[in-house]
Amino acid sequence: MSLFKNADEFVKSLHESAPYISFAARFASFRGFIFDKRINATCTSIKIAHAGFYSTGDSKKTTGKCPFCTLEQTFKQMDDPWQMHAENSPNCEYVLLGKPDEDVNALPFRTVVNLALRCATFSKYDNILEDIRILEESERENALYRDPYSRSLIEFRNATKFLTYEHRLESFESAKIDQKKVLKATSKKLAASGFYFTSKTFATCPFCLLSIDFQEIDDEWKEHQKNVECDFVKLDKKEESEWTPEEAMMLASRMWVMHKYASGLKLVAEFEKKEKEYYEFGERVNRMMAKPKCSTRRCSI
Ligand SMILES: [Zn+2]
Ligand SMILES: [Zn+2]
Repeated sequence: MSLFKNADEFVKSLHESAPYISFAARFASFRGFIFDKRINATCTSIKIAHAGFYSTGDSKKTTGKCPFCTLEQTFKQMDDPWQMHAENSPNCEYVLLGKPDEDVNALPFRTVVNLALRCATFSKYDNILEDIRILEESERENALYRDPYSRSLIEFRNATKFLTYEHRLESFESAKIDQKKVLKATSKKLAASGFYFTSKTFATCPFCLLSIDFQEIDDEWKEHQKNVECDFVKLDKKEESEWTPEEAMMLASRMWVMHKYASGLKLVAEFEKKEKEYYEFGERVNRMMAKPKCSTRRCSI
């Protein structure tokens, strides 16, 4: 039973970090959408929310943003939001799943979790940029006002130190890995391939949590590249000097999210070993994102 209880808590926390994974939250954000009142308009708030967008809060409420790929679109009354999303961001994880909120129970537990992690990553990225903006614009003397934003940035920096090659390398050096001559890998190659030292002969990628036994592996980068879901692998720039500030901040946000949900992801792996429980929990987690049966403006939303 405690497996379900822990998983419930994990999903609740994930939902808080990724609120726009749910259709209901996206739909609610478009309250007062101007085209809903026009009889001839085909572009309704239901369709926009269903296509994955939430309102950016502009005065006319005609601009939506995808929480899974950050695509922003301004809608006209005859637009087809789903088609716009698919055309302008064909690699978006939400687009690739094909209107995944349409059908409860349609997606495996892990797929929904991955989608939520993507959403949480962009949400963290936006929050950190907002914290930086507030600190830059606020008066230096106003310490009481600045304090929560400074704390948030310090916590973020501390949780993402393995973003840099130097810190990853340091983790191997303090474990004196290179002194064990039997090893095939070197700490420099491991750190350059994205890994930090975890224990004995194991190293972990902080961006995707892949763990490898570096005593058994000939080419750690090739091994890492097998995990096509990893953002560090996807970016394919091992040299930090080649990163844009946005890429660096996005990788850091990803690392922060993966670190926060590391134990939750272990739970998903436990569920995967048990078919019945995996299905049962998949049902619950799908409800988090699904379109409610009643989703007209007369609803309580
Ligand atoms: Zn998208
Ligand atoms: Zn990785």
